Amino acid sequence: MDIKKVGVVGAGQMGNGIAHVFALAGYEVIINDISQEALDKAIETITRNLDRQLSREKITADDRDGALARISTTLKLEELGQTDLVIEAATEREDVKNAIFERLLPHLKPETILTSNTSSISITRLASRTDRPEKFMGFHFMNPVPVMQLVELIRGIATDEATYKTLLGVVETLGKTAASAEDFPAFIVNRILMPMINEAVYTLYEGVGSVKSIDESMKLGANHPMGPLELADFIGLDTCLAIMNVLHDGLADTKYRPCPLLTKYVEAGWLGRKTQRGFYDYRGETPVPTR
Ligand code: NAD
Repeated sequence: MDIKKVGVVGAGQMGNGIAHVFALAGYEVIINDISQEALDKAIETITRNLDRQLSREKITADDRDGALARISTTLKLEELGQTDLVIEAATEREDVKNAIFERLLPHLKPETILTSNTSSISITRLASRTDRPEKFMGFHFMNPVPVMQLVELIRGIATDEATYKTLLGVVETLGKTAASAEDFPAFIVNRILMPMINEAVYTLYEGVGSVKSIDESMKLGANHPMGPLELADFIGLDTCLAIMNVLHDGLADTKYRPCPLLTKYVEAGWLGRKTQRGFYDYRGETPVPTR
């Protein structure tokens, strides 16, 4: 199928990154959110990130202007009805995602491919609630989308070959690399990454190390570009907790038990960079560890 127009639901950190890379690759993009503030912020972020790419000579001024001209925003979900591909990138909650699909489906063209950027929720289950499980797939971008090379493609039990092949082609046009993952909790990257982050929070919780010593240890001792707690703040602690809960529930193994300290940070609303506080406090000039 020829994909020209792409709808993105959710204008958060993932939604704006996805809109950015699609617009830069020449697709028409329309972004929907329930918050006008989120939509305005998304355009601001995309503009800033395109400007950064321009200043590093990764793109030209024409590329930047063309990409911005191809992006529009709307508070009305039904305006995504005429798109060829929808990427849902709203809050990581199954009820939120199901409600979005339910409201969107009556307005969609029958051939439109529907995808979710979920980090962990079962693609088969999300698909089963729609009218097109054969045209439904997991389309999992990594954060930050303009920088990260990988995209996980997750087929639900009913996804057909044509849908998979179409998305494989789309990933190529974005200049990214696709990895196929089976539809099991958290797929590949987060199945491995999240238990490591959760273990870092346990290491903090049990007093084995401080935020600074844990992050420094993994950066200098394991050659990770970011420490696990810094990375957790970057991803969003609510997202990390949601993924651990999906692993815990879906695989029924206590080794995936979310650390109570992670739960406490989320309960406090300290969700990481997006709320300016998490394992680090980002309100000043330089991030300061909160423990
Ligand atoms: P975020 O909190 O930054 O953004 C979520 C956005 O969804 C918000 O702007 C919110 O207003 C909007 N939203 C909520 N309900 C909505 C609705 N009914 N209709 C339209 N918009 C709605 O979250 P995020 O980090 O961008 O994550 C979004 C999705 O991407 C999640 O499924 C998450 O698991 C996945 N994901 C996140 C990361 C990451 O590192 N943060 C990486 C890969 C995938």
